[in-house]
This record gives sequence, structure tokens and C-alpha cells, in this order.
Amino acid sequence: MNHLTEHLNNFENTNRLFDKAADVLDLDHELRLLLKTPFRELRVELPLKRDDGHLEVFIGYRVQHNGARGPMKGGLRFHPEVDFDEVRSLASLMTWKTALVDVPFGGAKGGITCNPHDMSEKEVEHLTRRFTSRIGFALGVQRDIPAPDVNTNPQIMAWIMDQYGNRYGHTPGIVTGKPVELGGSPGREAATGRGVSVITAEAAKDAGIEMQGARVVLQGFGNVGSFTAQLLADQGASIIAVSDASGAVFSGDGLDIADLIEYTTGRNELKDYGSGEKVTNAELLELECDILIPAALGGVITKENANRIKTRMVVEAANSPVTTIADAILEERGITIVPDILANAGGVTGSYFEWVQNIQVFSWEEEEFNQRLDRMMGKAYRDVVVLMKQHDAPMRTAAYMIAMSRVAAAERLRGGW
Ligand code: NAD
Repeated sequence: MNHLTEHLNNFENTNRLFDKAADVLDLDHELRLLLKTPFRELRVELPLKRDDGHLEVFIGYRVQHNGARGPMKGGLRFHPEVDFDEVRSLASLMTWKTALVDVPFGGAKGGITCNPHDMSEKEVEHLTRRFTSRIGFALGVQRDIPAPDVNTNPQIMAWIMDQYGNRYGHTPGIVTGKPVELGGSPGREAATGRGVSVITAEAAKDAGIEMQGARVVLQGFGNVGSFTAQLLADQGASIIAVSDASGAVFSGDGLDIADLIEYTTGRNELKDYGSGEKVTNAELLELECDILIPAALGGVITKENANRIKTRMVVEAANSPVTTIADAILEERGITIVPDILANAGGVTGSYFEWVQNIQVFSWEEEEFNQRLDRMMGKAYRDVVVLMKQHDAPMRTAAYMIAMSRVAAAERLRGGW
């Protein structure tokens, strides 16, 4: 274990995970280089006249990591901490995620460094439209297709589709996670949480954890966290703590998830929620539980708190919530880690279903969407477990191995380098 690991930036951290799998695969130097290097990186200036009349210049990013297996795919994040390094790292995760679930996409990610909670709806709309105009030339139904991520939602996808369509003509397949009224797919909004719940149930079974009554702690109660909580509660799990950016609530007897969803849908913060005991986000991560699900931001389980985590299994609903050094500590402690590229791949799988419907101009019923999603997630999980056993490798390494082999095969067949 390298004591410097914690000082690596996000992209270097992700590449550490890549290298670990590349070593087991015995991948040659050229392919390592090719698979690590992003295809294209955009940084754009986004001037915005604020409601009070003053001008502010925001910065937006889009990193297209790899397109060997298909059009590049990945979300857009609106958050003060967005920078090139974070976007680059998340873009590479998308390459591995799409390959792991075997949807015909590559990987990309984007974002704007901003705090949408401090902006009016009009300001967010103008910023989104400006961003779309600036990067539109690099997008395309067969080139790059954005989707929602932290602080972006179906309405923001609708503005992107509209702005892109003004220039290139009506193109619903240019984004996924759209409102259903505009060609979005019933099932997509819940898809990431649904995938997390399917994978959690499978992994719990293998780890000997009974879902009925399993004590679950969830960090983040947005799109991914709230649907995950509801679907796990439906399977009989007891969600004993949840949090948002404002704070966390805990109840040893289990929280009322339907009530919490109704409460937070009104933009209310959990710190003001009426029942349960208040704890901090740091304390939440260290609560004793059977399953811990970080579903907010990256880098929350670090070398500082990894030894105090009291759970049997960590399911990475968020992207990169566990640093590489914490990953090694948890592994040493015998805690199962279900990696992000597997756990939260239901989102991109659902996006693939939406895109397929858009390009065929043919809509599916939600039931068909959910059945296909469950099947694909279940298959991805079983593929990973087979490789894990074959190589006596951690689940993350096995997942990367499958993904990297698929992207490497596509690169080799395309050639041209
Ligand atoms: P979201 O904006 O809907 O929700 C984010 C949640 O995290 C909110 O409840 C917010 O209050 C909370 N949060 C923010 N900062 C926090 C902090 N410091 N401590 C605790 N909670 C905090 O975003 P989302 O779409 O649910 O995304 C959550 C995670 O899941 C991200 O890592 C994202 O990359 C990943 N993800 C999302 C999707 C998707 O389809 N939306 C797909 C795959 C992965």
C-alpha cells in the first residue's frame, strides 16, 4: 500500500484501479496508454448576466474519454467542486461502466462549476443553454449523449434538447433522462436506484446478509439515494439513516422512507426533518449497519475513517466514494465493496433503453424497461462473480477486468494507431 495514494488526484486514483486490473490481465503498454488517455477534452467559458444585473463567467467541461464501443455517454454535474480532474475521472469510469454492462456506448462526463442552489431557475436555464451552444458541435446521437448527474434533472435535459434542436433539428436522442412528455422513458428516473437495489440484493445474498430486516445506512437522498431507499425498503430492509448535504437523520427502528421522499421532494432539507435523531454526515458513515450505501459525492470514505466504518458491505451507489487507500483498508478488514461501475450502472443501462426508443421512435411500457434492466444488472453481477472466483480478485478488480477486456478488444479490432 502506498502512503501517497491519498494525495493522488481523482483521475490518478481511478487509473490506480485501472492498473490493478491491467496487471492481472497482463495488458500491454500500448493498450494501457490508449485506454487511459481521454479522446477529447473541452473547457468552455459561460458568461451569465445574473438576475441582479451583474455579469459572472462560469466554466463548463466535457470530457469524452473513449468511444471505441460506441457513442460516448455520461452525465452532467452542476456543483462548486466540478473541475477538469473530477470530470476526467468520472468520464473514464463511464467507459468502464458502459463496457461492464455491455451497452454499445463509450464514456464521457461533463459539468459546470457552479452552485445551482444559489441560482434562480431562469439563471440555471440560461447557463444550461449557453453550455449546450458551446459544446453542441461535439455532441451527437452517434457521438456523445449527456444525462443527469448531481444537481441536474429532467428539466435541465429538456433545455439541452431544445437548445440543441434549435440548431440541429429535433433530436430527442441527444440526451437521456428527459421528461417523459419529451421522449423520456418511464423507468429512467428510478433506473439507477433500481439497479443499486438489484445489485445490493444479489451481493447481500452472497455475503450471507438477509435482506429482510437488514440495517441499511444511506448517504445522499437525491435521485439515486431516494429510489434506492424506497426499493430496498420494499424488499424488507430497514433504512436506519439517510442524509443530504444539510445533515443526517437516524432511527434504530428504521425510517419512514415514503414520508422522507414526500418531505424532500418539496426541497426541504433533512436537517429540519421532524422525526428521528440528528447526526452529522461524518457520523452517519460510521454507524453500525449491515449495508452502507454512499449515494452522494466522491471521496467520502478515506484513510481517515476507513477503520471506523462498521458495516459488512459497502455498495458504491455514488461514483468513487471510496479512495484507493480506503479501498485497501476495507478489503483488508474483510468488508465487501460493490464497486460503482457495477452498483450504479442501472442509470446508464436505463439511458441506453431511452436512447434505443428515441432512435427507433418506438416507446416501451415501463414494465418492459424494468424487466430488461433487472436482467442486464443481474447478468453483469454474475459475470463479475465468475471472474472474481476465477482470479481470487476483489469485486472491483474483476469488474474492471471485464470492462477493460471489452474496450481493449474494440480498440484492437478498430486499429488505426
Ligand atoms: P442528486 O443531485 O439527485 O442528489 C445528490 C444528493 O447528495 C442530495 O441529497 C444532496 O443533498 C446530497 N449531498 C450533496 N453533498 C453532500 C454531502 N457533502 N454529504 C452528504 N450528502 C450530500 O444526485 P444523484 O443523481 O442522486 O447522484 C448521486 C451520486 O450517484 C453521484 O455520485 C452520481 O455521480 C452518482 N450517479 C448518478 C446517476 C444518475 O442516474 N443520476 C447514475 C450513476 C451514478
